[in-house]
Amino acid sequence: MSKDYYELLGVSKSASQDDIKKAYRKMAMKYHPDKNPGDKVAERKFKEMGEAYEVLKDTQKRAQYDQYGKAAFDGSMGGGPGGGGGFGGFGGGGGGGFSDIFEEMFSHFSQGGRGGGPQGGGRSQAQPGHDLRYDVSVTLQEAYAGLDKEIQFPRHESCTRCKGSGSATGKVERCGTCHGIGRVRAQQGFFTVERTCHACGGMGETLKDPCGGCAGSGRTRTNKKIKVKIPAGVEDGMNIRLMGEGDAGMRGGPKGDLYIVVSILPHKLFTRRGSDVQMEVPIPITTAALGGSIEVPTIDGKRTKVTIPEGTQTGHKFRLKGKGMPIMRRTNYGDMYVEAVIETPVKLTDEQKELLKQLDASLTGSNAAPKSTPKSSGFFARVKEFWDEWGKK
Ligand SMILES: [Zn+2]
Ligand SMILES: [Zn+2]
Repeated sequence: MSKDYYELLGVSKSASQDDIKKAYRKMAMKYHPDKNPGDKVAERKFKEMGEAYEVLKDTQKRAQYDQYGKAAFDGSMGGGPGGGGGFGGFGGGGGGGFSDIFEEMFSHFSQGGRGGGPQGGGRSQAQPGHDLRYDVSVTLQEAYAGLDKEIQFPRHESCTRCKGSGSATGKVERCGTCHGIGRVRAQQGFFTVERTCHACGGMGETLKDPCGGCAGSGRTRTNKKIKVKIPAGVEDGMNIRLMGEGDAGMRGGPKGDLYIVVSILPHKLFTRRGSDVQMEVPIPITTAALGGSIEVPTIDGKRTKVTIPEGTQTGHKFRLKGKGMPIMRRTNYGDMYVEAVIETPVKLTDEQKELLKQLDASLTGSNAAPKSTPKSSGFFARVKEFWDEWGKK
């Protein structure tokens, strides 16, 4: 059940609610278990489509699905393995939602099937092309600067030989299976059901001379190369929609769209938070205590100086205004935060240890811990409180 709901119903992501309903009806009729007795594949397809339709028919659920995919319904769709959505038993009476849909379907066919059928023959056999998705990973530097990325992917192109019509000569003839009506009748249990003619796809006519280049489909499969402009400031998970860069439609139908889904690779120095970037910088204990200045790299590949004031503590964040990521569709930038991590010296000589001992002994009165050191004064106050609480028991 890993297929995309739109793909399952054969509609594009931008399909209207009405299109979705129509597509589902068509598919449900085709794969209905009564029509395909003992066919496990058809049964599974029927259930998957039911699950897809349950979500897409509800505009709110559809919006959730568009944003989060199937994860949005994990656990809430119920049913467990094989129990797709609300489609429990087809055998007997059937569940509520199920029979509703079929009542709708039958009334639809009895109303529209005969009278308004496609006998006129004026209807086009065109079908829109599918939307495609391409995943692109970029580094944080690339996201900073923006880039033109060349991508290659398989897609259906309009056949050059027949200009997408699917026909070598442009001639069509009346379908022999449905005699030009586009629908055929079939007995289904107690009902006589009209369904779309498979021979002509419901159009009532077939191509007299299918094009040799595309076997009549009007399109061919190619490996397409295009350049995609990834804007500066692009964020992780962002979609870039390229109109008309998806699959070509069948027999001259409109093209689908291409969605470029961008993910940003983790960086070895910078962590991104929206338009800001953050970096941890080790600072020697002496610089932290005495004050000084350090040099840090910036995301644009340059460097900048950060002034470290006397008595800097671990965890302190220095803000460098405008040194973050570019903000899309604007001219300004986020900020950079440099987080201080004070380093304890290691491998001290006896002499150095002696100096530190002297320092330790000299820390008395107003500058002795915990009186003036911000971390420990708060910490020791909390420790005392904790012991006092135990003492009360
Ligand atoms: Zn062709
Ligand atoms: Zn036909």
